[in-house]
Amino acid sequence: MSIGHLVLRAVPGGQVPTLHAVIQTLGEIGLIGAPYRTEENRFLAGDRFLQLITFLGCSPYLQLEPPPGGGDNFCHVHLSEPSEQPGFLYGSNTRPPRCPNCGQPFTEWKIIVERWWSRDETSPVCTGCGHAQNPMDWNWRRKAGFSRLFIGIPEVFPGEAVPVPDLLTTLQGDEAEWDYFYVQDPTRLM
Ligand SMILES: [Zn+2]
Repeated sequence: MSIGHLVLRAVPGGQVPTLHAVIQTLGEIGLIGAPYRTEENRFLAGDRFLQLITFLGCSPYLQLEPPPGGGDNFCHVHLSEPSEQPGFLYGSNTRPPRCPNCGQPFTEWKIIVERWWSRDETSPVCTGCGHAQNPMDWNWRRKAGFSRLFIGIPEVFPGEAVPVPDLLTTLQGDEAEWDYFYVQDPTRLM
């Protein structure tokens, strides 16, 4: 079992660069090093990984190499294939998001999002203020997120590490805004 993942995401709405372009950029700045499992777009941490991801407080021992017994429970970089429509990534740590208009939490968020997703229906209405909101605009408080392209870093406890602003700016280029969140036991809704 993994302790959690730090996830960088291209914020929906902008142009998403190709996987090839993102891999090239991450290689150039040193976030990723050698391919680990190419078919899954997994890479070992690059030589500037620890300059680009800041681990806060007294970090535990960081395992940057595959464990002797195998498996993916070590700190590396895992890119998703870009999808046509934004996918939704959430986890066991996801808490009710808040309405960006009035701040009321959507306690039934999972049911609402699944329904909204599968029927492609109009945006759910907030019972607090009556505004129709696209769940992509809800404030997920860095505990879930929508994107067409995710970059996951396993073995990061929520809040334990943050990307330096330079990393997000570099990814951003002039095409898409990037930010980050954390998931434990991730589930992806496509
Ligand atoms: Zn509201």
